[in-house]
Amino acid sequence: MYILCSDLEGVWVPEVWINVAKKTGIEELKLTTRDIQDYNVLMKRRLRILEEHKLTLKDIQDVIATIEPMEGAFEFLTWLRTKMQVIIVSDTFREFADPLMAQLGRPTLLCHHLTTDERGMIVDYNLRQPDPKRKVVEALHSLEYQVVAMGDSYNDTSMLMAADQGILYRPPQNVIDEFPQFPVITNYEDLRKKLENYF
Ligand SMILES: [Mg+2]
Repeated sequence: MYILCSDLEGVWVPEVWINVAKKTGIEELKLTTRDIQDYNVLMKRRLRILEEHKLTLKDIQDVIATIEPMEGAFEFLTWLRTKMQVIIVSDTFREFADPLMAQLGRPTLLCHHLTTDERGMIVDYNLRQPDPKRKVVEALHSLEYQVVAMGDSYNDTSMLMAADQGILYRPPQNVIDEFPQFPVITNYEDLRKKLENYF
């Protein structure tokens, strides 16, 4: 039996930090792992920026609540979940994802979480485990499930490689070039046709 492990940002919802940057007007928050390779350096810098601007978790959640899922995402995901089990496997944080998950009908989400202080400021972040996306596929294999995994970016590729079937969904060209073994799908209609093989 197949389970789908799907990335969140870039597949069902837009990139959260880019939107937070746009909506707060803080340009520096647009930095991604493409600009700063070391994720820990990047996250510490983001938290420092939030502290400098005195932005609390609630402020960020209010911004995220204005972000809407991709067009058709809720309808497609809701239908898909009647056909196969879907787990959202993300490198976001539970507290950030919450407003978006509410708009997606609250599918199961595996991701990281934040630490806040008494002011409501984000003071730290907690990664669930090393190589967390691949570990989900391995865990499901240990439960005798077969796994279809999909995502749009570098941080998904170890999950895609561990899965029985990996799918790149709307990836950037450099990811397509580096991982030619995975089929590339660019819309929900083609995704439906592909996933029907695993119902
Ligand atoms: Mg993504």
